Amino acid sequence: MYGIIDGKAISQAIKDEVKAEAEKLSETGRKPCLAVILVGSDPASAVYVGNKKKACEYCGFDSVSIEMPEETTEEEVLKKIAELNSDENVDGILVQLPLPKHINEDNVILAIDPSKDVDGFHPVNVGNLLIGRDGFVSCTPAGIIELLKRSDVDIQGKECVVVGRSNIVGKPMAVLMLRENATVTVCHSRTKDLKEVTKRADILIVAIGKPRLITKEYVKDGAVVIDVGIHRTENKKLCGDVDFDDVCERTSLITPVPGGVGPMTIAMLMKNTLISFKNRTGR
Ligand code: NAD
Repeated sequence: MYGIIDGKAISQAIKDEVKAEAEKLSETGRKPCLAVILVGSDPASAVYVGNKKKACEYCGFDSVSIEMPEETTEEEVLKKIAELNSDENVDGILVQLPLPKHINEDNVILAIDPSKDVDGFHPVNVGNLLIGRDGFVSCTPAGIIELLKRSDVDIQGKECVVVGRSNIVGKPMAVLMLRENATVTVCHSRTKDLKEVTKRADILIVAIGKPRLITKEYVKDGAVVIDVGIHRTENKKLCGDVDFDDVCERTSLITPVPGGVGPMTIAMLMKNTLISFKNRTGR
């Protein structure tokens, strides 16, 4: 019999902890503040930005929403980031990705002050993560560590396989699992025999962006399976990179989609913004 890792409940607990701490710390003086830049009118991005704004409200943070039209130039975005970098009342700056094609994402990420980079995408924060120094960690992988710890999964010494090597999920995920003393293998689109590798995993973390690719043949009996993927199916339902119905009986614990990893990303964004606020105000 498998157990479900309830990302909805765990993310709610984290947001409540953040809210309580933020309330206490802002009794005198300003509140934590997150600035979000949205360029263009991608409907999915607009929903994500709206959800971030709602989470700020819930946690008692201030939020600044900067909406720029599709034809905004890279220079204009960089100028806005420079303004936010020097605004003492802003703790976190997030640029919603993807950006329109004419804007170079690397240049935009590099322009964000690393001490306000609550998404953890700036190379300074990525480097700090790699060498074990304090810094902001990408929210989705940081959220997965919280899911595992709060579900009492013992990570130390375990075989962990991460499928996917993106800068946002796969790579930081592998480093975080290494930091927790797992034995880590990273697989990707050129891995020769994916099943052979994933079947070794005590903890299998899947972030490949391919609906229901992982079936029970890829999973060892009793494994913990974390599914990062999010896809909308033909009948408008959500599914992950893991075929949940096929795999669940083989696992000891598994994250559902929706309600698994998804809600954790915003909760960790709130946590990172609170950390930045504490760093900046010395509270
Ligand atoms: P990406 O496209 O940047 O990277 C996908 C990775 O998977 C690549 O490294 C590629 O090598 C690997 N890959 C692709 N096909 C493969 C295959 N057949 N076998 C083995 N490896 C393969 O994707 P990403 O940004 O890391 O996102 C992955 C998934 O997670 C997407 O579905 C995305 O929507 C979702 N996602 C969810 C959240 C969340 O908050 N829950 C956050 C980020 C991404």
